[in-house]
Amino acid sequence: MKIAIGMLWCEGNTLTPIKTTFGDFDYVAGEGVFKKLPETTEYFLQKGCTLVPTIYARALPGGTVVYDDFMRLANELIDAIPESGLDGIWLYLHGAMHVENIGSGEKYILQRVREKVGFDIPVSLAMDFHANHEYELAGLSNCITGFRTAPHSDREDTQLRAAKMLIECVNEKMLPKPQMARADVVICGDAVQTAVEPLKSIMDMARDMERTIPGLMSAEVFNGQSWVDEPYMGPSFIVTHKTDPKIARECAEKLAGAFYDARYDFVVEHVETEKAIELAVRAKEKQVFLSDSGDNTTAGATGDNAYMLNRLREAKVKGFLLAGITDAEAVEKCYKAEIGDELTLKIGGKLDVKNETAVITGKLKRRANMVNYTGGAPVPSVVLECADCTVVITKERAPLCRPDILDSIEPDWRDFRIVAVKLGFLFPELAAVSERTILAFTPGNSTQRLKDMHHSNIRRPMFPLDDNFM
Ligand SMILES: [Zn+2]
Repeated sequence: MKIAIGMLWCEGNTLTPIKTTFGDFDYVAGEGVFKKLPETTEYFLQKGCTLVPTIYARALPGGTVVYDDFMRLANELIDAIPESGLDGIWLYLHGAMHVENIGSGEKYILQRVREKVGFDIPVSLAMDFHANHEYELAGLSNCITGFRTAPHSDREDTQLRAAKMLIECVNEKMLPKPQMARADVVICGDAVQTAVEPLKSIMDMARDMERTIPGLMSAEVFNGQSWVDEPYMGPSFIVTHKTDPKIARECAEKLAGAFYDARYDFVVEHVETEKAIELAVRAKEKQVFLSDSGDNTTAGATGDNAYMLNRLREAKVKGFLLAGITDAEAVEKCYKAEIGDELTLKIGGKLDVKNETAVITGKLKRRANMVNYTGGAPVPSVVLECADCTVVITKERAPLCRPDILDSIEPDWRDFRIVAVKLGFLFPELAAVSERTILAFTPGNSTQRLKDMHHSNIRRPMFPLDDNFM
């Protein structure tokens, strides 16, 4: 059995002014792909498959991908797929990649794949829960599965499920036709958590369908990515049945209906920044994480807004850790200085000029290569110790979203009572060690406020902008 495998991954955000370029991707082609996708590779090899590697390219969530840079990646992926002789194709695609002049990068890739290999071999997709699906995507694939946890903790399981379904298709000579339904509801990412109602019941409903309906391969719930201003933005429900698309369609519509019916129950506690800071200061816990949700680099924001830093200082909070803020110029200055030197730096507001800046003075405490969340090259970063706080500055947009990443640049982070991070809800690895998290509704490219997203291209009607239409 000969299977082609590949990955192209970038969650888009059309609110941010920055573009995603080739250099933002952790990229390998050819056999290097196997090392980057070890679980999937091992699974296919155990099943006796011969693997054809294409590309592995993964970027931090960010702005629209520059057309030429996307085409370079897309062409490499497509060129590596042989025209004939394959039994199946496995692809790991985010689903919310936004490309200049194209829109959905995933739909484009699938169209090119089909132009090359036709429709007689199965294509199986593993995707992110925050995928924004164009309708055509279902017709271009044979199996589609996605993360079933948000925050995500089942990346490997999802890849393996897509691989298993592909093997089933080849062994049983099937070409299933996944069916998609939508719920015209826009819910900001952090209000949609799979372990929290009302979504928990909808996820359970999907699992029940898989357990009880013979021939049903997968029932998937995708929330979409609300920071992509396109008509295809929003939740979608994709169900794959081995032989009967009608059953799949009924299930997809049932899931979409349940999501729409629950639309009023998706709530995220609305905490203004000043209130969030007050709660953090008064907290009884030994350590509190304060989440700057409007400048969340893992949702594509620039990560260079000094807004939270300025509000903390105005509130005269002492001894907090700001982890971190992006500023290449400031990092460069720190790399030219000696450890212990006192420096005055103007930080923030360079990637997005709408963002606030701050002037900080402090001693250069540390320089280090920070572990890169995407798995790419380490990020040059510095720690500045000021009179009232400690600030981590990164050369590139880089989330401090896991303990090992924090350890790599500020090993003392556990000693700070308040740690301000540029995230939404904490990543599971950080949540596991956090006593308390307070999500602040801060402004920025990943705002939690629908009105500040200034959508102009999404389809209408759409709840909560419109209501009672489904
Ligand atoms: Zn996601």
